[in-house]
Amino acid sequence: MSSELSLLAVKTLSWDEFAAALAPLLSPETRLRREEPLATKTTMRVGGAARVYAEPASIADLQTLLRAAVQRSVKVLLLGRGSNLIVPDEGVDGLVIGLAHDVWAAFEPRSDGRVWVGAGLRLKNLCGLAAKAGLTGFEFLEGIPGNVGGALRMNAGAMGGWIFDVVEEMQLMTFAGEVKTLGKSALHVDYRHCAELHDAIALGAVLRPAAHADAEAINRQIDVYRRKRHESQPREPSAGCVFKNPPGLSAGRLIDECGLKGEHVGDAEVSGVHANFIINRGQATGADVLELVRRVRTRVRQVRGVELEPEVLLYGKNWRDVL
Ligand SMILES: Cc1cc2nc3c(=O)[nH]c(=O)nc-3n(C[C@H](O)[C@H](O)[C@H](O)COP(=O)(O)OP(=O)(O)OC[C@H]3O[C@@H](n4cnc5c(N)ncnc54)[C@H](O)[C@@H]3O)c2cc1C
Repeated sequence: MSSELSLLAVKTLSWDEFAAALAPLLSPETRLRREEPLATKTTMRVGGAARVYAEPASIADLQTLLRAAVQRSVKVLLLGRGSNLIVPDEGVDGLVIGLAHDVWAAFEPRSDGRVWVGAGLRLKNLCGLAAKAGLTGFEFLEGIPGNVGGALRMNAGAMGGWIFDVVEEMQLMTFAGEVKTLGKSALHVDYRHCAELHDAIALGAVLRPAAHADAEAINRQIDVYRRKRHESQPREPSAGCVFKNPPGLSAGRLIDECGLKGEHVGDAEVSGVHANFIINRGQATGADVLELVRRVRTRVRQVRGVELEPEVLLYGKNWRDVL
């Protein structure tokens, strides 16, 4: 066996051992899998597998997973709805944790007028449940295809609002397994970023609705936003906006002005509808998307002298290592 092959065999064995050691410590409701494909868990639909993947069914199981990962120096990555990620073709060397179990998807209005939302709740369901409960202020989240955890990590926003505009408290678990509740003034958030969630897991948040209104009026507003999105965004698989808007500029307009709409590498293509979206025409690979990101950045730098920074995340890696 070549030394490269034997190294691979040792690594495979140690991932098998890691998963085998974890399994008996977890409740039967918690899902645990080896080499779980991630492409179908993302909106871009590219990339490889998670060496180990878990969907914990309780706080205790989540703590068990984290403890085991820390003990073996295994990297931990959170997965929401996978709508802001490019997964590399080689997959992810780590433990990927998805809060996909129902236990994380709470929507609980409180007697003080606020509402607790779990990290696993889809933003679409948040909007629908809030409308049903007659609570306004969350309509801008309609159409962002993530869940609450991913939206908190990314400080997701649309139509002039950010999720942290409506957050009053956030509950998180550190990678050491400690649960903490932080008030808004203790949080460091800015454009597509929440510093407290770099090395922690969002468990949920307490949101403050703007007001009460009847469900029909709220749904009408949601429809307005939905239509706006349908007119301005591609329908094909994508990871949303690829680049952050440079201060005072629109990344989409810069890319369009460089004549890049329709530019493609394999089945990865700069959308003709919105130039800041890269779409997957069907068979794109992670490598195709990365190459197209490089190409777009280079052209915008050469033509307009602007350095675009990715907004989408390269799962398990740093963009600066591949760009
Ligand atoms: C068609 C389309 C339209 C979009 N429109 C918008 C838009 O208008 N505005 C906008 O802001 N974004 C938009 N996005 C991007 C994306 O939907 C948002 O960034 C969303 O908030 C990501 O949520 P997610 O659950 O999919 O997170 P993921 O993509 O799964 O993860 C994103 C990051 O959050 C981390 N994460 C996930 N869950 C947790 C958790 N519980 N605790 C800690 N970290 C966690 C992940 O590790 C990763 O680092 C769009 C995407 C698409 C495909």
